[in-house]
Amino acid sequence: MNSNLNQEQDFEQLNIEKVRNIGIMAHIDAGKTTVTERVLFFTRKIHRVGEVHEGMATMDYLPQEQERGITISSAVTTCFWNNARINIIDTPGHVDFTVEVERSLRVLDGAVAVFCGVGGVEPQSETVWHQADHYRVPRIAFINKLDRVGADFFAVVNAIRKKLNANAHPTQIPIGKESDFIGVIDLIEMKAFIYGRDSNGMEFDWVDIPDAYRQEALIYRDKLLEAISEIDENIMQKYLDGNEINPQEIRQAIRKGTTTGKFIPVLGGSALRNKCIQPLLDAVVWYLPSPLDLPPVEGKNPKTNESEKRLPMKKEPFSGLVFKINMDPHAGKISFFRVYSGQLQSGTYVYNSNKGVKERVSRILIIHANRREDVQMVKAGDLCGIVGLRNATTGDTLCEERYPIVLETLVFPEPVIEVA
Ligand code: GDP
Repeated sequence: MNSNLNQEQDFEQLNIEKVRNIGIMAHIDAGKTTVTERVLFFTRKIHRVGEVHEGMATMDYLPQEQERGITISSAVTTCFWNNARINIIDTPGHVDFTVEVERSLRVLDGAVAVFCGVGGVEPQSETVWHQADHYRVPRIAFINKLDRVGADFFAVVNAIRKKLNANAHPTQIPIGKESDFIGVIDLIEMKAFIYGRDSNGMEFDWVDIPDAYRQEALIYRDKLLEAISEIDENIMQKYLDGNEINPQEIRQAIRKGTTTGKFIPVLGGSALRNKCIQPLLDAVVWYLPSPLDLPPVEGKNPKTNESEKRLPMKKEPFSGLVFKINMDPHAGKISFFRVYSGQLQSGTYVYNSNKGVKERVSRILIIHANRREDVQMVKAGDLCGIVGLRNATTGDTLCEERYPIVLETLVFPEPVIEVA
């Protein structure tokens, strides 16, 4: 667990395969704020293990005062989980297609759609979902509030399929209902994750599936494999031959399906149970794409008017997009920025190809839940705040003057939505 500390120190060395740029989307009251706060609290807390009392990391319900200091109001917040860097982009929950929504959807690579286990697919969640469809944002679904009276995980899965026309399948199923909701079963590992502690006060982790739930888990695992077979030849062959399929292969097939819009993995929990955030974070890393899994960004060379592509690699010419501007009482103007290719050093000059001017990058900031960090360099796939840009406005491309480009709307892979 201490590796989380090292990961942060090695920010500049982190691999792009381990970057997840995600948004959390939901209709009002489904639990978007709670889920986001728990993700930030949970990852920060894990990050501090070793520094503070170990017991803190195993809290099931959070006393109010421990949550203080958590900010989720930033345009982008960075947290670390299991060798991965997760950038959470604040996606406004507007119900119509505003420029603001468009800009934030443009810079994310995937999203967690939060549904209420009782309310299910409500009219507003349909709107948000269709927005994400429009921008072809790869998604996983998280059915929240499974502890509430009337919560029905499988009814919501069905509603996601029918009302949202999505090829949605549980990758985890809940153990118990309402006030007896006690954990989840992962259908790929075939292990149970049970909340709570044993008699020694140690928190439970992944354990064998309780006998009473084994049969049900096998049935749902079979359904899941069947669904994955339909989108993946390799899994299909092994499934038909009755061969053992390893979890890694299944996860890869799901990630491919999620990235191309062919598949929506569904999991559930209760954001009030702190521990349920762990399987959700795992799912983000397993099933949502890294910048490398997506097609290269495209743009126009303003000199030649020709189309050009930029790959998310360090050796490519530097390019990226300003997606939000904030005025900060301490730092002044912060331009939130996504790097698509190459790398950006603090203290250097960049070319703003929309404005036709050079601008100085005086500081590069990474914003965590409760603090900011100055970094010397950011590279392809990263999201950061830049201090010092005088002329930049939202939507501007920054690049190298020698290789000018104006980036266009990010297009995700062609969606193939299949009704199950
Ligand atoms: P948002 O509008 O989507 O951001 O929703 P919030 O995160 O503000 O949550 C709305 C309400 O639902 C708050 O009162 C939360 O405490 C409550 N809530 C969130 N998650 C859960 C959950 O898993 N179980 C229960 N019972 N209540 C929850």
